[in-house]
Amino acid sequence: MEFSFSDTELLLFERITEAAERMQSEVYLIGGFVRDKIIGRPTSDADIVCVGNAIELAKEVAAYYYPRPAISVFKNFGTAHFKIEETGGRWLDVEFVGARRESYRASSRKPEVAPGTLEDDQNRRDFTINALAISLNKNDFGRLIDPFNGLRDLEEKRIQTPLEPLTTFSDDPLRMMRAIRFASQLGFRIDPQTFAAIIQDADRIRIISQERITEEINKIIASPKPSVGFDLLYKSGLLQIIFPKMADLAGAEYIDGLGHKDNFYHTLQVLDNVALKTNDLWVRWAAILHDIGKPATKKFEQGHGWTFHGHEVVGSRMVPRIFDQMKLPMNEKMRFVRKMVELHLRPISLTKESITDSAIRRLLFDAGEDMDLLMMLCEADITSRNKQKVKRYLENFELVRKRLTEVEEKDRIRNWQPPVTGEMIMEIFGIGPSKIVGDLKNLIREAILEGEIENSYEAAYRYMLDKAAAMDLKPVGQFQAGESPVK
Ligand code: ATP
Ligand code: MG
Repeated sequence: MEFSFSDTELLLFERITEAAERMQSEVYLIGGFVRDKIIGRPTSDADIVCVGNAIELAKEVAAYYYPRPAISVFKNFGTAHFKIEETGGRWLDVEFVGARRESYRASSRKPEVAPGTLEDDQNRRDFTINALAISLNKNDFGRLIDPFNGLRDLEEKRIQTPLEPLTTFSDDPLRMMRAIRFASQLGFRIDPQTFAAIIQDADRIRIISQERITEEINKIIASPKPSVGFDLLYKSGLLQIIFPKMADLAGAEYIDGLGHKDNFYHTLQVLDNVALKTNDLWVRWAAILHDIGKPATKKFEQGHGWTFHGHEVVGSRMVPRIFDQMKLPMNEKMRFVRKMVELHLRPISLTKESITDSAIRRLLFDAGEDMDLLMMLCEADITSRNKQKVKRYLENFELVRKRLTEVEEKDRIRNWQPPVTGEMIMEIFGIGPSKIVGDLKNLIREAILEGEIENSYEAAYRYMLDKAAAMDLKPVGQFQAGESPVK
């Protein structure tokens, strides 16, 4: 077995060996770190399991380093970790855990965690590929300890539990999602028996906290081909429990022989399409949610077929609720996703009619600095199997892009704010915050976006005075003589 370890890692292992020898404890590399080293996947956290006092061992090892790294200790779990710097400014997260045995008392659902042997510890790991250990002990340094043939499963790209699947899953139902997450991250298959157990036990996911569930969902979304994970979530029945609104997209209804496309598989394809273009989690979330309003707006119109009128508006209104339930951040990321969902049909509408400058300016204003990401989403949204159609759509978008660039160069609407602000309006007319201030601001913005007046301070100022006069509003003080607040 060939591993490639960095100099930083090798030095760390030497020091661990020495410290463990002094403490007369056994110590092993284990879990994701060993797995990733074997398949040559970059990894930034090293899991070390110690048969003995892991916290003491962490302290001993940290003492070799200058400056000494800060240790975080989790006494309740008997774990400790610190970071050391790798060459190239990367950090290696070193995690020390005590070998543990999990046992369940019939009276309690909570696992009893007691100190155990390496073997006990390997037994409580989630998958054979995550249970491999490498000895860091002086007598057999580098020996691979692989009781469940994890090496073979790595070679054959298979995910299966070390023990009977139902046993492993009942100890921690999140492992069902981890199986699917690893399948999506690594491009592995889940062993049929393990998958059958997920289907059987799916309902038990309900006892897991939303935070842990969302973390796994986000890891699936961040994987190279996220559709793999979501398809498995759907087929196992987990998606229906953890994200019913997304599962509602699945299926195609037929009336009078007319069907609509399966919006779940369409969504997955859009998601994979954007995943090829960006790693940004929130653009990927926008892809997942772009059609989320379709089930609620679906109608069959005689002579017309299936329609989803207004699904972008309904969908965008669903975004805050979904973020809240998922415990995703309710900040500008949520607002970004909501905006993407709301605007995702706008560029398409611009390909249909003759495009006016004002329609382009409006889109630039509404999308602002996210215009390019919106176009990325729209292009990803083309999932027709008809090559001619795809080509035509992409050409239309090319045209829209060209017009967007032209109008932007001319009018600078992106990141634009109308030249007369609310503060100025209040100052000029000597009024406080009120509806009239908002009305005037809107009139000015509309006039500029419509192309009625040019995008300049002077034009906006003159236009505002006209509109204000019609409302019987006159400038006060020094502004009466036509002076304006801008120098
Ligand atoms: P990644 O770091 O990419 O999420 P990983 O496999 O390293 O993947 P971690 O969550 O870092 O996963 O956990 C490290 C190791 O701890 C795993 O490889 C596995 O052996 C074990 N482990 C983690 N979570 C569980 C769990 N819920 N049940 C059983 N074993 C687990
Ligand atoms: Mg890890």
